[in-house]
Amino acid sequence: MPIRDEDGACLPGVTSEDDGVKGGLNGIDNGRLAFDHVRIPRENLLNRYGDVAADGTYSSDIPSPGRRFFTMLGALVQGRVSLDGAATTGAALAEYIAITYGNQRRQFDSGTGTDEVVLLDYGRHQRRLLPRLAQTYAQFFAHDQLLRTFDGVFGGAHDTPAERENLETLAAALKPLSTWNALDTIQECREACGGAGFMAENRLVGLHHDLDVYATFEGDNNVLPSWSASVCSATSRSSSPGRMPRPWPATPSDRPPARSSTARGSAGSASPSPTSDRPRVRSSWVCAPSSSTSCWPAASSRW
Ligand SMILES: Cc1cc2nc3c(=O)[nH]c(=O)nc-3n(C[C@H](O)[C@H](O)[C@H](O)COP(=O)(O)OP(=O)(O)OC[C@H]3O[C@@H](n4cnc5c(N)ncnc54)[C@H](O)[C@@H]3O)c2cc1C
Repeated sequence: MPIRDEDGACLPGVTSEDDGVKGGLNGIDNGRLAFDHVRIPRENLLNRYGDVAADGTYSSDIPSPGRRFFTMLGALVQGRVSLDGAATTGAALAEYIAITYGNQRRQFDSGTGTDEVVLLDYGRHQRRLLPRLAQTYAQFFAHDQLLRTFDGVFGGAHDTPAERENLETLAAALKPLSTWNALDTIQECREACGGAGFMAENRLVGLHHDLDVYATFEGDNNVLPSWSASVCSATSRSSSPGRMPRPWPATPSDRPPARSSTARGSAGSASPSPTSDRPRVRSSWVCAPSSSTSCWPAASSRW
């Protein structure tokens, strides 16, 4: 489908526009393209799951509109796996910067006339960074499992409908947790580096800006968990003796199906559920704070 003429100008009926400066990720161009009374040959449709005949009749191998919709959204699984890894690496990078800083930066002595102590000798500082470090490790372990599942399905070794559904459910569950946790961790690391953390050259502010939209694209973080939860609860109900499976949303034919697309499609607002909850990750869920509540350095408490 030609969009521009030989001089680079948009063809009649086609308009394009850059999105302008964004809150982050400005190394990537985003824009919009609009068509007004432009005829596109029906052979040029992205018609993996549906077709339009010469007489205008629509047909699809997937009869249920809901099932068709979720089948196409399944193409987003690759993006969700990638975001999970990128967010986890972003959190690890922020931890690395903040822990290095905390291990070198000295503030005050311990009241005994000794040398000033490093920030990481303060209990408060440890509790800000170390539980999040543990959580970042846990995220890497989870991401490794996700990658193995992804490889099994897309590499063909375990390309079954059940494994595809498992992969999509796992990706939809992990992407919100890891991206929200990365934002939370980066902000805490930024503050843990004080004023230096706010300097662009120390990367934390830019990292937060770039990862901000990770909560939104490739499936909004508030919507994805309702997908995973519905699949898990349907699975658990079906495996409970004496209980019938009640797949989400409404009928079995509308349930998020297993699928085999590799195409990239539209992102996002996948779930019709009006009641998604925000399971924002708190580091305290993973690692309980230590018993000490002092904000002053514990004697020789280098961790
Ligand atoms: C930088 C950038 C790059 C992008 N790149 C791509 C791309 O390459 N390909 C692509 O296809 N898309 C892309 N997108 C679009 C992106 O996937 C959507 O912005 C995202 O899916 C959210 O949709 P929306 O903006 O329409 O928000 P809305 O749907 O208007 O959502 C607004 C708010 O309402 C909430 N909400 C919406 N629906 C529900 C619901 N059912 N239940 C509960 N809450 C709900 C959301 O959680 C959100 O908080 C990109 C967006 C950005 C910002």
